[in-house]
Amino acid sequence: MLALQGAFARHVAAIERCGAEAFEVRTAGQLDRGDALVLPGGESTTMLKLLATFELVEPLRKLLADGLPVFGTCAGMILLAADVTDGRDDQISFGAIDLDVRRNGYGRQVDSFETDLRVAAIGEPALRAVFIRAPLVERAGPEVEVLASHDDVPVLCRSGSVLTSSFHPELVDDDRLHRYFLDELVGR
Ligand code: GLN
Repeated sequence: MLALQGAFARHVAAIERCGAEAFEVRTAGQLDRGDALVLPGGESTTMLKLLATFELVEPLRKLLADGLPVFGTCAGMILLAADVTDGRDDQISFGAIDLDVRRNGYGRQVDSFETDLRVAAIGEPALRAVFIRAPLVERAGPEVEVLASHDDVPVLCRSGSVLTSSFHPELVDDDRLHRYFLDELVGR
């Protein structure tokens, strides 16, 4: 669990409820210890600054290129995208999944919302999804599997070992997405 900034504590609890070991990552050594990584929501620009400060940009880039299973939620999805609109001038992203995203594309904090999503990959009932200054997916490449959409916009996407959500799955009392990540992408 990348734990530099943002909403990581509840992700750790969700992963542990699914029966996997979760630990907080702040150094390259810790990053190497895991079989998978979760990038939380928060503020992608701040997270990027801290990734640079903690000298994690290149180690993370390498692990992603090597196919490390990763689940990026909200700001975490922005970090994994191919292209980011409305980022800082020097905003980088890792291009781990072929998505173009617009930061804060659903509007400002007051435009945050919740909705129920149908996700065939996890079955019924619908999943409650909380969007907080969420990134908007403006393009999904042909390799990207769209697992759920809201108003015809992809909000839950998979490409190989990379899973992304525009929303915050850790904020609801429903661990099915964490379980899906562990079972289908990490293959525990
Ligand atoms: N707007 C934030 C960003 O650009 C993401 C918001 C979130 O993670 N809830 O990083």
